Amino acid sequence: MSKVIEHDQQSTMDKSEGKKGVQPHAFVRNTRQRRVILDVLRSTDTHPTADWIYQRVRERVPNVSLGTVYRNLRTLAQSGEVLELNYGSTFSRFDGRATPHYHFVCERCHRVLDVLELPVQSELEREVERRTGFRVHGHRLEFYGICRECRQAERSGAVSVEAGKNEKNGQAEAFHEEQ
Ligand SMILES: [Zn+2]
Ligand SMILES: [Zn+2]
Repeated sequence: MSKVIEHDQQSTMDKSEGKKGVQPHAFVRNTRQRRVILDVLRSTDTHPTADWIYQRVRERVPNVSLGTVYRNLRTLAQSGEVLELNYGSTFSRFDGRATPHYHFVCERCHRVLDVLELPVQSELEREVERRTGFRVHGHRLEFYGICRECRQAERSGAVSVEAGKNEKNGQAEAFHEEQ
């Protein structure tokens, strides 16, 4: 839908070309903002929230609003240029890698990481179709646990080889409270 609008504006711009002083400022601004948003998002693999993206975009486009960033992210997600990962009603995270892949959510640092080591198991979709009679267009798969960096931090800390047990009783609880 938003694509249609963009095309309209594009053709307006084409027509006005050559006529000096007739500049489609809004279109230029939107395109630039969207490019910066996409830039920021593609420069990280941390699957940031809209707010994080907004803070970074603001460094380059000082008068941009959070609403504009949201709107552009939605548009980019609708056109399939980015992925929107919905985590309940509280917040979405955005992913500059638009091709299907799996994710790992660290329960300690709350980062969302790509699991590119495991190819997307499209046979799962056929299996669900076979068993249910549904037509499956895709699926999301997320793993939960402790990421490599958090495990390393844990090991280099005072925690002994018995970390497995300590983890459940001690630190893990502290992190739950953080949420
Ligand atoms: Zn972590
Ligand atoms: Zn991802």
